[in-house]
Amino acid sequence: MKKTTCTYCKKEMDCPKKMLAAKVHICDDCMKSFGEKDNPNLIKFLKGIEKEIGNVGKKFDKCDKIAKEITKMEFNLFLENNNLKETKELRKAFAEGSFSTLTFITIGGMDEEFLDSLLEATKEVRLHKQNK
Ligand SMILES: [Zn+2]
Repeated sequence: MKKTTCTYCKKEMDCPKKMLAAKVHICDDCMKSFGEKDNPNLIKFLKGIEKEIGNVGKKFDKCDKIAKEITKMEFNLFLENNNLKETKELRKAFAEGSFSTLTFITIGGMDEEFLDSLLEATKEVRLHKQNK
């Protein structure tokens, strides 16, 4: 067990090492009071987290789509530039690399509208290249 802080009440709490990376930690007391009716602040707080997690999920879906577009668009060029032969593993690594870069930037605060326009732009560029 490691020590961490309850995201809600800021009290120090034990946390399994594996769970330390989680964004949100909720202590036993807060968990218990979540079951009690008259705790609107905690309920509001948890709804906020839920919404945030939902938003991140949506953003990551978009990152995945953009990463796929980038892979379709740039993978062959990457092979050519590095004198590599195409393999399933290389393609997967390339796509995963694009995806993690995008999610990393997204966590840093890229908003959904920007991701939407980035997806549109990558699609357009890819289609333009294909039609050449
Ligand atoms: Zn707490």
